Amino acid sequence: MSLHKTLLVTGGAGFIGSNFVLAAVAAGQTVINLDALTYAGNLGNLASIASNPRHIFVHGDINDGELVAKLLAEYRPSAVVHFAAESHVDRSIAGPEAFLKTNIDGTFTMLRCARAFYESLAGEEKELFRFLHVSTDEVYGTLTPEDPAFHERTPYAPNSPYAASKASSDMLVRAWVHTYKLPALITNCSNNYGPFQFPEKLIPLMILNALAGKPLPVYGDGQQIRDWLFVADHCSAIATVLENGRLGETYNVGGGNQRANLMVVHTVCALLDELRPDSPFVPHSKLITYVQDRPGHDRRYAIDARKIEGELGWHAAESFETGMRKTVQWYLDNPEWLKDVTSGAYQQWVNKNYADRSSAAF
Ligand code: NAD
Repeated sequence: MSLHKTLLVTGGAGFIGSNFVLAAVAAGQTVINLDALTYAGNLGNLASIASNPRHIFVHGDINDGELVAKLLAEYRPSAVVHFAAESHVDRSIAGPEAFLKTNIDGTFTMLRCARAFYESLAGEEKELFRFLHVSTDEVYGTLTPEDPAFHERTPYAPNSPYAASKASSDMLVRAWVHTYKLPALITNCSNNYGPFQFPEKLIPLMILNALAGKPLPVYGDGQQIRDWLFVADHCSAIATVLENGRLGETYNVGGGNQRANLMVVHTVCALLDELRPDSPFVPHSKLITYVQDRPGHDRRYAIDARKIEGELGWHAAESFETGMRKTVQWYLDNPEWLKDVTSGAYQQWVNKNYADRSSAAF
């Protein structure tokens, strides 16, 4: 059983956040879930715990310091797990402003509020308090095929506006540890995949398009390498670091699954061929279409996870093959979820229900 009974989670209606919240509530923890419900936030991900009293959803922005301070004072969580971010690289290239606002300013607000709350604590409550900042391996930049994998001492060299905004937020967390002694931790994880991922990201986009017989757009030559991790493994890594991580430390998280994007798309196609043999689009790989590469596209990411594995005993439970099978099956089993997020019906519902409120708890 976790030491942390009550968590303040930001971005808990997004892809990784919702997987984490579902696991935390299932493990008996109480979660205060602060999420602005941007296009990427979806309460449908949390439908199974909608009436669970240990999940308290709060619609609001991490830049709203008054709200964050109020939630900390009211619920007195022993940990903050900070997922909320703008997370899509292509969107950061088209419009970086929102990334600076949420990822940098928003993290600053969370740190400022967490520090004030931490300093108000005493005794055991103070001893237990943690701030865990969820970050990405993209802060390290790109690797050549010969380079060793990213480790915790790899210098930061972010290349996209998204990566730069996350690198900045990591630096703020580091400064709050060193200057104000905030008991914070950082995780830098590789690319995730799994249930509830918004279909703008590679794997769900390919599944969605393949099911509809639409082209499967592959950037450039498709040889960009990412180190894939099943989302439940990322969530278990975060829980492990929260419980046993050394204060002020960074832990790199990855499953040792380096795959070229093109190979990932072929894996999706092969699984769909097998699971949907009657589809008129078999073999789905004939839908693969090469499109112009993303500007500044990083060539290779790879994670050296020996620190979290050796020090904290964490290991990924899923291989790429088992995780991908579960993921494709989940999307096949949940056509309603896909329909909602792609039809815009869900976003219309959010606009209608929240149009006149900047924040609301329910
Ligand atoms: P996501 O885009 O699916 O979800 C982000 C969530 O944050 C959404 O629910 C959104 O509504 C919420 N949000 C955005 N702006 C907000 C604001 N101003 N205030 C409150 N809530 C806000 O993202 P994800 O893929 O689940 O990623 C979660 C975190 O993990 C991010 O910090 C990301 O950088 C990090 N990360 C992601 C990956 C990956 O592969 N997806 C890998 C490593 C690290």
